[in-house]
Amino acid sequence: MSKKDIIVQKFGGTSVATPERIKNVAKKVSACKRKGYDVVVVVSALGETTDELIKLADQIDTDPSEREMDMLLSTGEQISVALLAMALHKIGEEAISFTGAQVGIMTDTSHTKARILDISTERIKKELGKGKIVIVAGFQGISLHHEITTLGRGGSDMTAVALAKVLKAKMCEIYTDVKGIYTADPRIVGNARKLDTICYDEMLELASLGAQVMQARSMEVASKFNVPIHVRSSFSDDNGTIIGKEDKKMEEVLVRGVTVNKGEARVIVSGVPDKPGEASRLFEYLAKENINVDMIIQNKSTSGTTDITFTAPESSLARTQKVVDKASKEMGSAEVKYDKDIAKLSVVGIGMRSHAGVAAKMFKCLASKKINIEMISTSEIKISCVIKRKDADEAVKALHKAFGLDKVR
Ligand code: ADP
Ligand code: ASP
Ligand code: MG
Repeated sequence: MSKKDIIVQKFGGTSVATPERIKNVAKKVSACKRKGYDVVVVVSALGETTDELIKLADQIDTDPSEREMDMLLSTGEQISVALLAMALHKIGEEAISFTGAQVGIMTDTSHTKARILDISTERIKKELGKGKIVIVAGFQGISLHHEITTLGRGGSDMTAVALAKVLKAKMCEIYTDVKGIYTADPRIVGNARKLDTICYDEMLELASLGAQVMQARSMEVASKFNVPIHVRSSFSDDNGTIIGKEDKKMEEVLVRGVTVNKGEARVIVSGVPDKPGEASRLFEYLAKENINVDMIIQNKSTSGTTDITFTAPESSLARTQKVVDKASKEMGSAEVKYDKDIAKLSVVGIGMRSHAGVAAKMFKCLASKKINIEMISTSEIKISCVIKRKDADEAVKALHKAFGLDKVR
């Protein structure tokens, strides 16, 4: 068995979008191996492949079987691993590619958003022991029922983090198309700054609130098991951002980042009878359908009825509508409205735990831009506001400036 330190390297879709880029990835992987590490590589599907496969399925059936979706989407990553293995062979490296099932990434049975239950490291370690670079298809596993599953959008991050955890890797390197984690999405805010470090809790919040640079669920695992992560660019050798445990100094910064999520829709159920059991009925139906409900607001009742408002992913709006309409009929509520014209804007930072006034500053900044706040929710380290989608980018830029995130500290 090899005694070398293990590095897990994950390359996202843009990083492997063309044959030239795959060759570039092979060079990076080879350089890491030449430094004396055992290397396990996780790759995503080429470029926009996953989106294209989803569109293809949509042309056949707008509500396809989730099992068949997983059969379809998992093919994307299978292409990448084989091509990367070939690119490594071509430059003289020994490498072998595997699907998730082949290396025993066992998941539960919830198709399209499966959770990893266990990974057997035996096969990977055996190949590393032979001196090979091991390449694993991201985003996929095999269920207890021997079915192919996928781990939710952005799920290759989860494959990488989970492998780094079980293999006790020295570092989990996430290679992507930006130089690290920024104070805001650099595609929206031109003067966003790259952070040297960020703690797990902050990254988990940013990711959950719309910063797609890391999959949110992968951050839960990283945080629980203290997996060291380095997010960096596939196109340069510069250091990126280290995601790790928080330290005292991090608390001095009030807001670490601003983020926006334009992928949610709002549901307003009005005239709900104000009696025990009604909210429970509605949200139980939604939970059974596996719909990730986010902000929930119930108003004070007037004349025996109340309104319940919540947000949910726009991508599951069709399923949401089906169950909400059913629940609403049973509850005898007056009306249900669906609104896609929303965006959720958030500021995140562990410094908020010990500093007051962040909410006031956020609301004042939005008011100065005449942007109306339609919903508000807070937690210990974040404040979120729902605003109109058309105002989203302007609002992110304004908040980024108001909290001084453009200034070098
Ligand atoms: P990959 O295909 O490598 O997994 P993703 O597209 O999933 O890449 O994530 C990288 C993208 O995340 C970047 O191109 C960037 O636009 C976006 N992003 C959003 N918020 C942030 C942020 N705070 N810092 C860095 N990137 C961000
Ligand atoms: N290819 C998958 C997706 O686009 C997984 C990933 O890229 O992480 O969601
Ligand atoms: Mg990604």
